[in-house]
Formats: sequence, C-alpha cells, structure tokens
Amino acid sequence: MYFPLQLRLTLFYAVLLGLALWFFGNTVYTQAEQRAYTDLDTTLSSRAASVSLGKGLLSGQYKAALPNLLQSVDELGSGGVAIEVLDNNLNLLATTASNANDPLQISVGGLGNSPVPWDIQAAQWVLRHPFSQNGEASSVYSTITYQGQHIRVYTLFNRDFDAGHVIQTARSEQDIEQSLRDLRSLLWSGGALVMVFALLGGWFITWSVLRMVRRMTKTAHSISASRDFSQRVPTGSVLGKDELSTLAATFNEMLANLEEAYWRQQRFVADASHELRAPITSIRCNLDLLATAPDLPAEEARSALADAQAEAARMGRLVNDLLTLARSDDAAQEARANGYKKDTGQVQKVDLDSLLLEVFRQYKPAGEDVNDDNKQQGPRLLLQDITPVQVYGDADQLKQVLVALLDNALKYTPYEGSVSLSLTTDERYAVVKVSDTGIGILPEDLPHIFERFYRADRARSRERGGSGLGLTIVQSIVQEHQGSVEVDSTPGKGSTFTLKLPVASEID
Ligand code: ADP
Repeated sequence: MYFPLQLRLTLFYAVLLGLALWFFGNTVYTQAEQRAYTDLDTTLSSRAASVSLGKGLLSGQYKAALPNLLQSVDELGSGGVAIEVLDNNLNLLATTASNANDPLQISVGGLGNSPVPWDIQAAQWVLRHPFSQNGEASSVYSTITYQGQHIRVYTLFNRDFDAGHVIQTARSEQDIEQSLRDLRSLLWSGGALVMVFALLGGWFITWSVLRMVRRMTKTAHSISASRDFSQRVPTGSVLGKDELSTLAATFNEMLANLEEAYWRQQRFVADASHELRAPITSIRCNLDLLATAPDLPAEEARSALADAQAEAARMGRLVNDLLTLARSDDAAQEARANGYKKDTGQVQKVDLDSLLLEVFRQYKPAGEDVNDDNKQQGPRLLLQDITPVQVYGDADQLKQVLVALLDNALKYTPYEGSVSLSLTTDERYAVVKVSDTGIGILPEDLPHIFERFYRADRARSRERGGSGLGLTIVQSIVQEHQGSVEVDSTPGKGSTFTLKLPVASEID
C-alpha cells in the first residue's frame, strides 16, 4: 500500500506530540483537582474544629431557643461553608445561616434550605464509632448530591461539653467543578492550538525536505528516460544549507562525473570506429582491386596483398590496444573500489631493475650503432643509472609500460639521436626516466598526449604504426599501480618521460 512519507512522518509526529500533550495536560489537571479537593477538605475540617472552640455558645442559657445561630463561626469567615451541630439524636443544636433575615435557613452554595443533617449516614456512623483506634474523635468525609449539586460534607464527633454531639460542615463543590471545567477547556484548546501549529510546522518541514528528494527522484527518472546527463537538481533548500542540500550537490557532482564518463565513452566509441575504418577501407580496396583485376601484374598484386597485410596487422594492434585499455580500465576501477591490495596475490613484488634490463636487452639490437654494412639501424640506446629496487605490481603490465615508452622514444628520435634509460630511487619512489634527443612535443600538444587516440603528428604517428593509445595505456597502468607519469619536452631537442612507482616496503 502506498503511504506517502510526508503523511507518515506527520502522523507519526502528531501521535507523539498528542501523547506528550495528553500526558502533560492530564498531569496538570490531576494535580489541580487533587489540590482543590484537598484544600476543600482542609477548609471543612478547620471549620468543624473552630465550632468546637465555640462550645460556650451551646451552654444552658441558649438551650431554650434551639437551634443557635453560629455567628462567631460566620465571623471567622465560613467561606461558603455551612455548619450544623447536632446532638446524639441528630437534633439540630446550632447552625450557620446564610440568610440574615431567616436565621434558620441553612444553605450552601446558593441552595435553598438544606437537609438536617447533611449526611445522615455519616452522622450515624460517627455516633456508632465515636473514637478511632488511637483515641481521637472520629471523623469522615463524604460527598452527597443535593439539588443537582455535589456537596462535600465533613462529619466530626465531639464530646467537649455534653454526652457527645456531631458537627457537620458542608460546602458546595460547584465552584471547584467550574474552575476544573475551565482548566480542562483551557488545556484542550491550548493543546489543540499547539497541535495545529506543530502539525503545520511539521508538515512544512517534511514538505520542504521531501521536495528536494522528489526533485532528485524526478531528475533521476528523467535522466534514465532521456539519457540526458546534463540535467541538474537545484541545490538551494528552503531551510538553508543542510544535509539535503549537500546531498543534492553530491548528486549533481555524480551527474557531472557520469556525464563526463558518458561523453568520454561516446567519444571513445566514435574514435575507435573511426580508427578501425581506415585499415578496413584500405584492406577492402586492395582486395577489391585483386578481385576485379585478375590480370593485374604480379608486382602490383603482391604490393596490394602486402598493403592489405600491413593494414590487417595495424588493425590487429589497434584491437589489442583497445582490449588492453578496456581491461586496465576495469582493473583500475576494481583497484579503486578495493583500495590498493598488496596481499591478494594479483599484485606482487617486482624487481624493476631486472624488468628494465630485460626491456633494454630486447631493444638493444634495434638500437645498435652499426650493422655489418656500417649503417645505423636506429638511435643509440644507452643505459645510465640502474638501482636495484622492488615495486608492487604486475610484472607484465609494468613491462608493457616500459616497452611503450621506449618504443615511442625510438619511434620519434632520428637515427643519429640517442635514447637513454635510467632507474633511480627518490625517497619512497622508484624513478624511471626514458629520455630521447628526438623531435620533441609542442607545448600545445603536451597536455593531450595521454588522451585516447591523440597523436601530435597524425601522419607521422600513423606512418610509424602508432594508434594514439600507447600513452593512454601507460597512464592507466601507472595509475593503477599508485604511480605517476610525467613528461618534459622541448620541440626539436627531445623528450623525457618520468615514471614514478611506490617502492615496495621491505617488511612484507
Ligand atoms: P602513438 O601510438 O601515436 O605513438 P601514443 O599514445 O604512444 O600514441 O603517443 C601519443 C602522441 O604523443 C604521439 O602521437 C606522439 O605525437 C607523441 N609522443 C609520444 N612519445 C613521444 C616522444 N618520445 N617524442 C615525441 N613525441 C612523442
């Protein structure tokens, strides 16, 4: 069942807030209620006690005109408390009057004549049990309903001046009930107001938070539908800079990277097909020529076949380079995801000096100064420093890097020039330098030579069998090995490629 998050959060919030408010209101109300009734009981009992102080009023001379009016009690301030003093047969001995004209009108809380006694059962009970276990005069509180009003009654046994009599004090609970009702409605309306404001606030906050999330969802959805990676999510949040605006900025950053990667991929595919088209066209033309002209002179037919062969070989190299690149991209991605693991077995310690010597020996014949006819075969190949050093890595891949750099140096250096190799260490790095005295690279080409298919001098590079992928592969492998490759070049004077790889620690 779809239950929107905004509604869910608001409801959850409302329930929690409601419970908190209810708990708070309930505590306040209960406290106020208890306090009011305790105060009432205290008033009733203190009024009853004050009657016993006024026992003189009930001495013999007044007996003829019973009941007496308890004026002195009134003077103490009865506070709406009516008092009845009854003998042990429950005849009225004395009472308060709330109506000055009619001294016998005992009323409480604006009610008409009151019953005598107020609570007959309580009066009978205290007469039956005049003293409590610890010898004190017994008393009891009760609540009666009289003319639709709740009347609180306090009944006290007293034997100060005769065989025993009963004092009952009573007071209406109406005003207490009224103020409790007022308090209740205040709490309800205040609570409701707080709820409304809190819910509106909560709704607004969740709305503004979820608006960002909705925007991101919408953008992601529309990107997946249209593959338009140029879209971005607005990063400004109504609530200022917060985790969500950071998330939106990160999301945009990710989109920018994806866009970059997408276009790089597109460009790569376009470039790769373009590069493959040239040899395919050349092979097709040569084959067409052979097929359509069967009487072609043998010389020309051989040359067409040789052309086709050379192009096929170039295409083979290109496809190999592409494969290497794709694989090293995968490996680099994996290495990035896993961190650099030297203990997986895939990456082991490699003697870089031995590897360099191996490559040097492989190329040395091609770089020998003279052949039998005393003619130069290529530039002079020199080995300068060689320091024994170990690095972590894949020996085959590292060899491929050295071969590519040396190959380029020999390719772009005239026969009379020289190419030198050196291996030194610099603190934590092994440093390989491949320097040549060749044609050099123009400053405007320098920043691009590691890009895929970039060739500073297209014609010359192609003529020398270059695909424009060699340095891209070098960089990719070197980065995968946590190293770096840099170039320093002066056009017409030569170039130096510097390769840095972290030295393997001796502990492991
Ligand atoms: P290619 O297969 O064309 O050699 P690379 O990626 O190996 O492709 O090199 C890219 C470009 O960098 C080359 O086309 C060339 O113009 C330039 N380059 C590389 N190495 C050298 C060098 N040692 N001297 C001069 N130019 C170089």
